[in-house]
Amino acid sequence: MIILKTGKELALMAKAGRITAEALQAGIKAAKPGVSTWELNRIVHDTITSRGATPSFLGLYGFPAAACISVNEELIHGIPDKKHVLKEGDIVSIDCGACIGGYHGDSAFTVAVGETTPEVGKLLEVTQECLRRGIAAALAGNRLGDIGSAVQTYAESFGYGVVREYVGHGVGRKMHEDPEVPNYGKAGRGVRLMPGMTIAIEPMINMKGEGVYTLDNDWTVVTESGLPCAHFEHTIAITDNGPVILTQC
Ligand code: MG
Ligand code: MG
Repeated sequence: MIILKTGKELALMAKAGRITAEALQAGIKAAKPGVSTWELNRIVHDTITSRGATPSFLGLYGFPAAACISVNEELIHGIPDKKHVLKEGDIVSIDCGACIGGYHGDSAFTVAVGETTPEVGKLLEVTQECLRRGIAAALAGNRLGDIGSAVQTYAESFGYGVVREYVGHGVGRKMHEDPEVPNYGKAGRGVRLMPGMTIAIEPMINMKGEGVYTLDNDWTVVTESGLPCAHFEHTIAITDNGPVILTQC
């Protein structure tokens, strides 16, 4: 069931979204060679709690940290680890959420650690543009397939693989609500978008191929190709005046 939010609820979601964005930016800013993924998680965690919010991911389905931190061929659900130290040329995705007043935000960003190759830089640029295009398609009266189609068409025009097994989702009082928001699909198909819907749009794009699998730790999802992948995400509200990004500061 898709839960439409009132104006009052959207204001609370904007607050949760702003804290999520502040935490994400703090983590991204700290992503330098020599820093561990555990340290990035600590920064995200402390930023969220210092704003009086709680980390949405901590304990969600049993996840052990405030942020999912995924490096290179890791797509999502990477577990922060003191022993995993970032090195020059890595790319790192941070995905986090904050809850305040009973509502959640959810956002992710992938950044290069120091200098990366032009090929990997392009993947990041295109995936971020996929997110922008997906958001631009999130207009009241459009359909879910318009979002997926916008993301898929752009990513595939560069020969990249669009991950099928993981998708975006509704967000609100729960971190994961209906509907599912795939990064692929056909324009004009699927659920009609309505004002008051709040969804996380999150393109997950592989350098090559669509395939992914989960490591033995039962969390970390990696590409079948072993090649890098990227993940960008915003929580947005669909309004009569167009899409509003909630996870920004
Ligand atoms: Mg997320
Ligand atoms: Mg999400």
